[in-house]
Amino acid sequence: MSDNKTDKMRPFAHLVFDLDDTLLDTSRQLLPRASRDACAAMIVAGLEATLEQCGKAWDEHHVSQDRHEIFTHLVEHFGVRGGSDAASVAQRGFHAFYNRKVESTISMFPKMREMLLDLHKNYGIHLVTAGNRATQDEKIRILKISNLFDGIYHIDPSRGEFKRDAFNRIMSKTACPPEQYLSIGNRIDSDIAEAKALGWKTCWVRYGEHSSMLPTSALEEPDFVIDMTNELIEKCHL
Ligand SMILES: [Mg+2]
Repeated sequence: MSDNKTDKMRPFAHLVFDLDDTLLDTSRQLLPRASRDACAAMIVAGLEATLEQCGKAWDEHHVSQDRHEIFTHLVEHFGVRGGSDAASVAQRGFHAFYNRKVESTISMFPKMREMLLDLHKNYGIHLVTAGNRATQDEKIRILKISNLFDGIYHIDPSRGEFKRDAFNRIMSKTACPPEQYLSIGNRIDSDIAEAKALGWKTCWVRYGEHSSMLPTSALEEPDFVIDMTNELIEKCHL
């Protein structure tokens, strides 16, 4: 476990966590029902597939490292019934997937609360979460984690917002050199590349939906790689 450390011994000043598939087991706890609901909504809107075919293609999509948005991929893969508009079908899937009621039974990965409390003795701890604001707020409320962070930042990719916007806000608020920030998350495009572009250090949690997506540029190459967030302290020498 992380001991009390002097400033000299601390490799970073601030730890910036992602929520889904980093602290919360989204892939196991939320994804199966959300993807099924999204498939159902797209089929009603005109996707030329059965629920079973859509579910299978969904699973194959993230293994194939296809970087297209899943909803666009499904529409291209199956096509739409005559009279339906492909873009609207994809949009219906996106809406059903991201704007939904969060199950009240969700929980963080084991020992995450203890880990965050422990790290908070030595580091600034921040949360940057991407998605529909109301949905992400609901997850935070159910998990009872708002008091564990110095700051919580939302970005909504459907509104053209990026994680780097939140990262920049954290830096202007806390005013440390860029290399003293560590971004921890499961997406090499947003959690890793957008942090590295600012000069931050990065830890890729290779878990969940995007775990088979491999780096394709120097910016996507993480400084550390872990399979689960509970390896963070040991592997990143915190
Ligand atoms: Mg995530």
